[in-house]
Amino acid sequence: MTRYIFVTGGVLSSLGKGLAAASLGALLKARGYKVRLRKFEPYLNVDPGTMNPNQHGEVYVTEDGAETDLDLGHYERFTGETCRASDAITTGQVYSKVIARERRGDYLGATVQVIPHITDTIKDAIVEDIEPDVDFLICEIGGTVGDIESLPFLEAIRQFLNEVGHGQTMIIHLTLVPYIASSEELKTKPTQHSVKELLHVGIQPDILLCRADRPIPEEAKRKLALFCNIRPERVIEALDVDTIYQVPVAYSVTGLDIQVLKHFGLKINPNPDFESWREIVRKIRNPKNAVTIAIVGKYISLKDAYKSLIEALAHAGIANETRVSLKWVDAVTLERVTETGPQQKSTDQVSQIWGDNDGILVPGGYGLRGAFGKMAAIGYAREKKIPFLGICFGMQLSMIEAARNLANLKDASSTEFGPTSTPLVGLLTEWLHKGVVIKRDENDDLGGTMRLGSYACHIEPGTLAHKVYGQTVIYERHRHRYEVNINYRQALENVGFKMTGMSSSGQLPTIAERNDHPWFLTMQFHPELKSRPFEPHPVFKAYIAAALVHQQTK
Ligand code: GLN
Repeated sequence: MTRYIFVTGGVLSSLGKGLAAASLGALLKARGYKVRLRKFEPYLNVDPGTMNPNQHGEVYVTEDGAETDLDLGHYERFTGETCRASDAITTGQVYSKVIARERRGDYLGATVQVIPHITDTIKDAIVEDIEPDVDFLICEIGGTVGDIESLPFLEAIRQFLNEVGHGQTMIIHLTLVPYIASSEELKTKPTQHSVKELLHVGIQPDILLCRADRPIPEEAKRKLALFCNIRPERVIEALDVDTIYQVPVAYSVTGLDIQVLKHFGLKINPNPDFESWREIVRKIRNPKNAVTIAIVGKYISLKDAYKSLIEALAHAGIANETRVSLKWVDAVTLERVTETGPQQKSTDQVSQIWGDNDGILVPGGYGLRGAFGKMAAIGYAREKKIPFLGICFGMQLSMIEAARNLANLKDASSTEFGPTSTPLVGLLTEWLHKGVVIKRDENDDLGGTMRLGSYACHIEPGTLAHKVYGQTVIYERHRHRYEVNINYRQALENVGFKMTGMSSSGQLPTIAERNDHPWFLTMQFHPELKSRPFEPHPVFKAYIAAALVHQQTK
């Protein structure tokens, strides 16, 4: 039987609802249950694919190619369960579905309304594509209770609770209990108001998770219990922690998982497997070494824009028992400083910027702005033999850098930046006229649209990529519109840049590496999306190991 847990948020946003949901998932999994997580987003975008990463953070891509909210990354990292397109539902999607049905005449002349048509569609989305053996489905509701946009979701949940019954459903409400310095007190009133908002739409929370920067006194908890109609043991404090991987352990100490199991009348396994979480936290807190990695990007004002990347590097740090410090380098500033512009200059000017980094990383990105700054960084890593990892845009720019500076292809560029005589990177449709026959198979994509989701990559034995993965066929997730043009393979290989991983058709370069460098690996996909604390991604694990070697030999 599947039980449904809805996680709502009150008072203000950014309280860590996604992490709370993911951590509860981790605890229930550690107690032997099968868990799935899903997110409902009140915004009108169909998906976050078109949103600015500086505002909304990273777009997380699922195996099956959905562009989703970054919280799905937390779900995968904390529970190890792979999310699907059906785990990310937005108001935009719900309305699109309803309007399409209306146009088809499916509503048989009825007036189409929020209740019941939108709310029914939301209720269908809650239960869609859930296997019968899933014990818990945790649904996170984006936004904050009281927002106009959240209302249809809350109404759908109210109906769902009523139809499915209290024995199979539960509401967890995450709020803030702020400390007010002038009165030296933690204040419960914002939480009381936020619960009133929920009651106003007919929903009574079962558990209150209260974020606070210091322990909440028993008296304040009793007050919250009294005013919010909740048992005192179900008012649970969620204190700030030093690493996100401490959150599951911290919640287990407060008894969150026990309260959830009691609510559903389930047996409480006396030996849950929380030790692996404690071990991870121990390793994070007691590293044996330290490295610094410079990340050159354009969205560095909001670190959430690189969420999975930051976590993947942290996982690699855990695996290497190394503290990985990140130095953020703004690609646009770098471009200005190095005055590279379309006429790229010497990489020497860049050297002063790098200080003492043990590795340079150019992650995914879009557009011309900052691209030459990134290429200056790539050229520097190449010449100075600094471990280099280029992801997606980072691979494309590495190829352009090598073509321009080593292969004498001065105009080498990406058609993403405008027309070019040397389209080293371009849309598949653009190379067709060059006589490349693209054999489409199930693993390859359509030109002109984004390549999204998991695709196979075939790795050449005996290469760095092969050493890193230990396999010749791998599956990784993509999110890009442009591809490296295989017509330039020979020109690049002549200057030491080998294409060592190819798509199933053999036409789309997917991994490339330098053979004159200790560790220079680039890839068209996003390995960071599949890294998990208990299964650090081989690419990041090997990269941090290489950064350690570099540090010891320099
Ligand atoms: N802008 C490039 C493309 O669309 C790379 C995208 C990315 O790095 N995710 O192909």
